[in-house]
Amino acid sequence: MSAAQPTDIVIIGAGFSGLYSIYRLRQDYRVICLEAGDGVGGTWYWNRYPGARVDIKSVEYSYGFDHDLAQEWSWPEVFSGQPDLERYANHVADRFELRQHLRLSTTVTRLHFDQDANRWHVYTSKGDHFVCKYIIAATGALSAPNTPPWPGREKFKGEIYHTTEWPREGIDFTGKRVGQIGTGSTGIQLAPIVAEQAQQLYIFQRTPAFSMPSGNRPMAPELERDWKENYADRRRQMLETYGASLTVLPKLSHDDCSPEERQRILEDAWSSQSAFQLMLVFTDVMTNKSANDAVSKFVHQKIREIVKDPATAELLCPKTYPIGGKRLCIDNGYYQMYNRDNVTLVDVNSAPIIAFTEDGLRTAEREYQLDIIITATGFDAVTGALARIVIEGIDGKKLADKWAEGPTVYLGLMTAGFPNLFMVHGPKTPAAQAQMITTGEWQVDYIAGIIADQEREGLSRIDTTEAAEAWWDEEVEMVSRATVHRFADSWYNGKNIDGKKGGFMIYVGGFPRFAQLSKAAVAEGYKGFVRS
Ligand SMILES: Cc1cc2nc3c(=O)[nH]c(=O)nc-3n(C[C@H](O)[C@H](O)[C@H](O)COP(=O)(O)OP(=O)(O)OC[C@H]3O[C@@H](n4cnc5c(N)ncnc54)[C@H](O)[C@@H]3O)c2cc1C
Repeated sequence: MSAAQPTDIVIIGAGFSGLYSIYRLRQDYRVICLEAGDGVGGTWYWNRYPGARVDIKSVEYSYGFDHDLAQEWSWPEVFSGQPDLERYANHVADRFELRQHLRLSTTVTRLHFDQDANRWHVYTSKGDHFVCKYIIAATGALSAPNTPPWPGREKFKGEIYHTTEWPREGIDFTGKRVGQIGTGSTGIQLAPIVAEQAQQLYIFQRTPAFSMPSGNRPMAPELERDWKENYADRRRQMLETYGASLTVLPKLSHDDCSPEERQRILEDAWSSQSAFQLMLVFTDVMTNKSANDAVSKFVHQKIREIVKDPATAELLCPKTYPIGGKRLCIDNGYYQMYNRDNVTLVDVNSAPIIAFTEDGLRTAEREYQLDIIITATGFDAVTGALARIVIEGIDGKKLADKWAEGPTVYLGLMTAGFPNLFMVHGPKTPAAQAQMITTGEWQVDYIAGIIADQEREGLSRIDTTEAAEAWWDEEVEMVSRATVHRFADSWYNGKNIDGKKGGFMIYVGGFPRFAQLSKAAVAEGYKGFVRS
């Protein structure tokens, strides 16, 4: 263990939130950013699987903090793929000279709060020991891979890959029998590309996802120009409307429309080349069951039209939860892929996977002979990355114990008993319900404001209270009750992982309301915080 190195702020994670945190805070404070990976970009560093791509237009899914960066950078495609997003993250790190603050290949393993000195002690996998006043956990809402504990993994003689730990050099599937477990957003992006190479692709599906065509295409000069001329206004509009993609907002509810109008609006949305337009066909898709059913049925219809084998088409139609209850997926030929002779959909809802074997996978029904198994099984979302760090707050209380029944937080920013520790995209923030680069920037600015106030007023500690957490819980529950999200088992409520507790972990009240409540708390004399 090396001697303790003093600093002001330790940032954990060098994804888009961590990189912006360095940029925003390094002028005024000594800042160190610790990152487990050997490069920057977070999500876009780890998720190298073929097909990895944003589902929000790249002109929107990019930083807004620097005018020249926004004007000079060009995205080659409308919905960028992983290589371009990683290139962008590296460009930002170089252009703004952030690397001197970075320690790569360094996993934070333990955080311990010294309550007498009001300092955090930070320990890493490399044996470093830092002492700092503030922690910014920019550890990512979707960064801790979920690997279900099927027995027999060690027996399998072939290769196993998790999509979020994809080898840099890629994988050659030519002539291979491949099994892909998982049909969420990642599985939907990856499968059509594997299918083009593999001898045989078995797709093991527990729950089908709703997906619509991404409409990805090369960036049109007019689209790029239009955005570059209007960036400032557009960013402001995004934060004021939904914090997410700028889409055409609906004017009519489902019941306001005639059947013909409904069909036209749905068809237009399907071919809009704008992801999420389908969720905005009527004003009440997320709040009115009959409106939601109409959109679900429309997608079922599309699936049945595209997929030639009726039994496969039926298996692909999600019928157990409302559309939008889980984040809508976008694809490039996913449903069409099932018309290939070398692709087989396996329903592991009715016949679950029992074990890995020497030669492949065994379900309750039969064994599948495989050379390569891909686990596209998603993430221990929202709380997973923090849960993997031993975090000891006041009186040595562990965060894992505090959150054993699910995370409790105030404004998604702090958790009581762990002073001076701020989270970006933490539990019960809008996270993937908004566009996470822009809203991440907003959260980092908000944290920077709090730290500046603390320092200006000569304070040593800021914490929150259990009462404030209870108030935020009520708010989170109240807004989620108003939407159909509650009818879906997903990573939003931890139900993608057997046994995970915690209830609803995403704030679905919209980014504007989240921002307004956050700002009001500070403006009203730091309501819900305890400062000393
Ligand atoms: C495949 C995929 C597609 C997505 N598409 C979209 C999209 O279209 N639009 C959108 O808004 N969002 C999307 N997201 C969400 C995406 O995570 C965010 O948009 C954004 O990249 C989050 O940035 P971040 O910096 O907050 O977190 P991340 O990018 O997750 O970065 C967190 C970093 O923290 C590091 N870290 C975690 N724990 C530790 C530790 N103990 N020690 C050291 N380092 C640690 C991780 O290694 C990681 O690099 C997508 C996510 C995935 C997985």
